[in-house]
Amino acid sequence: MDDTTFIRHAGDGVFSVDSGYVRPRFDAIHVVVEGGRAAIVDTGTRDSVPRTMAALEALGVPPERVDWVILTHVHLDHAGGAGHLMRRLPAARLAVHPRGAPHVVSPERLWAGTVEVYGRETAEATYGEPVPVPADRVVAMDDGATLELAGRRFECLDAPGHARHHLVLRDGETGHVFAGDTFGISYRELDADGRAFAFPSSTPVQFDPDALRATLARILALEPGAVFLTHWSRIDDVPRVGATLLRLVDAYESLALAARTEVAPEALGERLERDMDALLLREVAAHGCTLAPDAVRGLLEMDIRLNAAGLHAWLQARARTDAPRPAAR
Ligand SMILES: [Zn+2]
Repeated sequence: MDDTTFIRHAGDGVFSVDSGYVRPRFDAIHVVVEGGRAAIVDTGTRDSVPRTMAALEALGVPPERVDWVILTHVHLDHAGGAGHLMRRLPAARLAVHPRGAPHVVSPERLWAGTVEVYGRETAEATYGEPVPVPADRVVAMDDGATLELAGRRFECLDAPGHARHHLVLRDGETGHVFAGDTFGISYRELDADGRAFAFPSSTPVQFDPDALRATLARILALEPGAVFLTHWSRIDDVPRVGATLLRLVDAYESLALAARTEVAPEALGERLERDMDALLLREVAAHGCTLAPDAVRGLLEMDIRLNAAGLHAWLQARARTDAPRPAAR
């Protein structure tokens, strides 16, 4: 692959590699290069693997000098390519949240769930079937666990809210944070005057607003100068973006609770989608983005649908927890 425009240096030896998933600048694979060795944070899908290998070649890192593949979580746009990639990286170990580790070693259930939601043909075309990673190459990272790349130390933090099996990574060298989907989604097309707009991802089925607020507060307390998102890449101006995310988690919650009381259960899905569309379009306009509403909708269509579905799942889980329980015997 001669074209290297899909690789950008994002500062301090961190490179954003465009995974090719969905559209340009949608799904980032971050490659950290230190002392001629590399760590890869999130892998994209199966079809992203050739890009990652081309990026390593362009960066002058041979496959056997990749020490780590780190998954922020096992959603398939982050981890679908992990097993395929590990087969190409003979010395790499795979770091993942303890709750994510079983899905990496035995991806069958994750894949069956994906096939159930999308159908086999779409699932295959969108993500590709994952392959297992041998258990002896997988390292489950508890909260506070660290890993090292040529002396550069990274700390893993348990980061629930978007998913229960999510970890974020703090770079000990720069203080920057790799946040996966936990510090929201921020497409560069929605930047206004160089300022990023970000919104929380409430993708099904483990969105938890209380946990997400706590995780956001924990990330903000670290005072990182930059946060790297999978969708898409480096965000500076972290306190401002963090305040927006916290405000929008509250807004998602209010929107869901209001919708639940105002419409019949069979109309709830549609109502949540309409309200999520209205909320995000209003926020993008208030941010100062000058794109036409239809262009914004074009960029956010999938997120609006997934966020609404995630709120729906959260309401259903909540109703189950709140339901009166039979008297204990
Ligand atoms: Zn995710």
